[in-house]
Amino acid sequence: MAKIGINIATGSLQKEEMIVGIDLGTTNSLVAIIHPDSNQPVALREHNGTSLVPSIVHFGENNSITVGEDARKLLIRDPANTIYSTKRLMGKSYNDIRDNASFYAFKVHDDNTESLVKVQVGPQFYTPVELSSFILKELRSRAEHILKTPVTKAVITVPAYFNDSQRQATRDAGRLAGLDVLRIINEPTAASLAYGIGLNKEEEKAIAVYDLGGGTFDISILKIHNGIFEVLSTHGDTYLGGDDFDQLIVKKWVKEHKIGEERLQNDKELMQTLRLKAETAKVHLSSKDVFIDHIGDIQLQVTVSEFNKLIQPYITKTLGACEIALKDAGLKKQDINEVVMVGGSTRTPLIKSLVSDFFGLSLHDTLNPDEVVALGAAVQANILAGNNKEMLLLDITPLSLGVETMGGLMDVLIPRNTKIPTRVSRNYTSQKDGQSGIVISVFQGERDLVKDNRKLASFILEGIPAMPAGLPKVEISFLINADGILLVNAKEIRSGTEQSIEVKPQYGLTDSEVEKMLMDSIINAKDDIKTRALTEAKTEAAQLIDTTLNFIEKNKEYLTPSEVDQTNEAINALRNLISQGTKDELQFQIEKLNEISRPYAERLMDIAIRKAIGGKNISDNY
Ligand code: AMP
Repeated sequence: MAKIGINIATGSLQKEEMIVGIDLGTTNSLVAIIHPDSNQPVALREHNGTSLVPSIVHFGENNSITVGEDARKLLIRDPANTIYSTKRLMGKSYNDIRDNASFYAFKVHDDNTESLVKVQVGPQFYTPVELSSFILKELRSRAEHILKTPVTKAVITVPAYFNDSQRQATRDAGRLAGLDVLRIINEPTAASLAYGIGLNKEEEKAIAVYDLGGGTFDISILKIHNGIFEVLSTHGDTYLGGDDFDQLIVKKWVKEHKIGEERLQNDKELMQTLRLKAETAKVHLSSKDVFIDHIGDIQLQVTVSEFNKLIQPYITKTLGACEIALKDAGLKKQDINEVVMVGGSTRTPLIKSLVSDFFGLSLHDTLNPDEVVALGAAVQANILAGNNKEMLLLDITPLSLGVETMGGLMDVLIPRNTKIPTRVSRNYTSQKDGQSGIVISVFQGERDLVKDNRKLASFILEGIPAMPAGLPKVEISFLINADGILLVNAKEIRSGTEQSIEVKPQYGLTDSEVEKMLMDSIINAKDDIKTRALTEAKTEAAQLIDTTLNFIEKNKEYLTPSEVDQTNEAINALRNLISQGTKDELQFQIEKLNEISRPYAERLMDIAIRKAIGGKNISDNY
């Protein structure tokens, strides 16, 4: 099947263009390519030698956007407008991140719903997809500057534990940045590829990838078999990394010099300087025995043995996670053939030696641990470009396959470029009370609205027993067999009702039609993603209106007439916006209606609990 590239700058189709590998990281991002002369993966560097671009976006006056080191410098001075760790928000709702909301110094919009989270900067709302697209755009333009050629095709890496919607969000971010994302690959897979593991098709191995960065720890257990990587298990800690080690050193110094909590609170500059010195000390101790420095008259000293003692419990914790990952994978330590080290913190000698002891193996640690994931993405890109003749590409799906969801949106189940055979399932539900049938329409294409894609088939799953909206659980699975035939199956789990259909996805499409569909998707990316966001906001608004009306109807007796009026007013305002409002206006009004109705729900809950515990008042809200 065809591999197609589109030069966004000229609109022309190119078959030979370089494909870059991108590590879109939580803290830093970077781009790598296969060097045309050496045929080896290399990270792209600025004049000053740095390859890492901090994954930080700053919004300045007049809508100016700065990404990277310059944005990082504004973290302390302008926290409300400087957005970091966007990757932690990808594909998440506010409810998902509520417990860690204090981690962010900027405003993550609390809409108290399951819909995708947004970041508020002044009057503007940004989705994590948009924020990531700013980072990718910056990476792309830096790469174009260094390579002196347009860059339009990329392989982007994501953590192995990223779910479908987080992967789709990453794909969308690439598309918004004008990139044709040929494949999303797992970070541990990329790291293994960078060391050449898996390039020999005869190889059959179990691999442990130990990834300790600045803020996160991940362990992944992979199996490589016939040139295909399979993730057997992942485990980790999303808030454990080198930053914690810096904090340990800071605490030690603060204790030694009896620097009071109050002084630290009042002297942010001292706190910040201590933190930076601690990081310098940590890095220094990766190659030296002792660090000595001072801030004014505060003497700072830390030895390797002191440092090792401080971090030991954290490393033990990571090894505990390794045990769990092994158990989940159904493997023992002795079954692991290769251990790959990823992330800046794995430069610490104690970590290397303890991980090596744990697995009883020598480590793959010769490549730069900050760059290894991007290097592997470049290796994968090179395979996709057909430059690695030994590595035969398995058949792939040329266009994405999905189903139509509310508002005529395309929900992709199998993204394009997925190796076949493959199987994916996802759960859906009904929109209306007592709905007895659900129409399942299958589409092929890259656009966000199904009307712009190609309809392959449609069938009705009938005989669903009457249930309230949202209760039926319809599992739709797509199976593409080795011949490229798609089998779509829909099953209502609660009742067991089931229906299948067979489709030949590629039927009737020539290479040039596929090319056109791809090009259209990139040209229209911005509008498409905007339309999708608007449609989603409209659907959310309509659902909220329904539930709120229902709620008022059932619980009138607990509300005052003026509360009912106020709620109806907010409902009407929202209803008007559904026909002509913008996404931000809708979101704003949704939040307003939520704010009005939230206390009612809490009040009712209290009443219910009070009734249940025999009239004792547990809240003074009512
Ligand atoms: P990453 O998130 O993979 O970029 O890793 C960044 C983390 O690696 C930060 O906490 C750095 O302080 C840490 N780091 C960078 N260089 C070293 C080093 N030589 N020794 C120990 N930690 C390091």
